[in-house]
Amino acid sequence: MKKVIIGGRLIDGTGRNPVDNSLIIVENEYITYAGEINESVIAEKCPDQYEKIDARGLTVIPGIIDCHIHLCGILGKDVRDWVLESKTQQAIVSVTEAERLINCGITTVCDVSQNGLYLKKLVQTSKIVGPRIIACGRGLCRLGGYIDFSGLPVEAINELHPWAVICDGVAEIRKCIRKLVREGADGVKIWATSSGVAKRPTDTDQHYSYEEMQIAVEEAEFIKMPIFAHCKSIQVTKTALSAGIKNIIHGGELDEECLELMKQKNTIFMPTLKTTLDWLEYNYDEIPLRKNLNAYPGATIEEKEYNRIKNNFKKVYEREIKIAVASDTFCQAVTPYGVTTLQELYAMADAGMSLMDVIVSATKIGAEAIGMSQFIGTIEQGKLADLLIIEKNPLEDIRHISPENMSLIMQNGQHIKSDERCIDYE
Ligand SMILES: [Zn+2]
Repeated sequence: MKKVIIGGRLIDGTGRNPVDNSLIIVENEYITYAGEINESVIAEKCPDQYEKIDARGLTVIPGIIDCHIHLCGILGKDVRDWVLESKTQQAIVSVTEAERLINCGITTVCDVSQNGLYLKKLVQTSKIVGPRIIACGRGLCRLGGYIDFSGLPVEAINELHPWAVICDGVAEIRKCIRKLVREGADGVKIWATSSGVAKRPTDTDQHYSYEEMQIAVEEAEFIKMPIFAHCKSIQVTKTALSAGIKNIIHGGELDEECLELMKQKNTIFMPTLKTTLDWLEYNYDEIPLRKNLNAYPGATIEEKEYNRIKNNFKKVYEREIKIAVASDTFCQAVTPYGVTTLQELYAMADAGMSLMDVIVSATKIGAEAIGMSQFIGTIEQGKLADLLIIEKNPLEDIRHISPENMSLIMQNGQHIKSDERCIDYE
């Protein structure tokens, strides 16, 4: 099937200036041309014979990439429920989560869950609709670590937890990653810290040793898989970076030395701003103990923490460290699927990022983080045709990237959603 998208404002995800009157040619699942409308291209490629999509007055951007999500199908908010809920029920619910994501224009995700390993194959074979899934399977967590505070037996957690598995020491970590690969994993996630829930000063909170992290990196590197670390403390972020971990999720505390190391190592930072700030607002946990919280403005601890998180983000952005969109969506009741990813874009804009940079973070940088930049992330010749046609210009307001404004959602050259507004070009 051959398609042309005519006359739209093209924001291609590279950060280049938009092309106002653009032509995009899609042949089967690939983009074979993207750029200005030009007579010689039209003559050479004969777009007259193609299905024509009218994008005049509309904007075309790449499909959104969310680098951190959990398609775990949990309904309850309680940590014990996550383990004890029926796995069949969770699997069924996770199908609806995938559907919600693609209907919000999220065309690719990196997932940390058991279900993702299977959903991936069902999306690939068009049995269900959903984003393309880079599946990590369950993430690695140590004994007594982030997921191990429910009081349930370790055996039960390892059998039934929807998005994490407990393993310790070099040998277990190696074996665990190899098992995940056997199940079809494309990436590795580790919890290098807790989430401040341990009520210990977070800047020293460390869950895996340097050696354990290095082995995880080595195993991922053997078969060229991306690796992601949940890091909430300065010390551990530095340890993870030194061990060779490229993608830092949350990065809740950063200092100058840490920022310098991130810059040197070409790190990709995934701030999960929206979820972190909401978490604070809804007061799910106590604020972690922080040494220098008083250095930030605010009348209450919550306000100070809010400003500290935004300040963190700003410092990373000002250093020109790469930032990717990662929503940490984990259950429909708290973080609605798809909507939360788009809200992460809005939160990044609200925290001071330029709107063009937000789009690049949500597309090109995301593809790089998950090891997919050869295939997706920009609208360029040779890439897979994952793109969105938006009613209004997102460079005027990032909130224009919303499901209501999406006239067309295309994944692999296929229409997931297409309004009459932009089909049947005359
Ligand atoms: Zn997460």
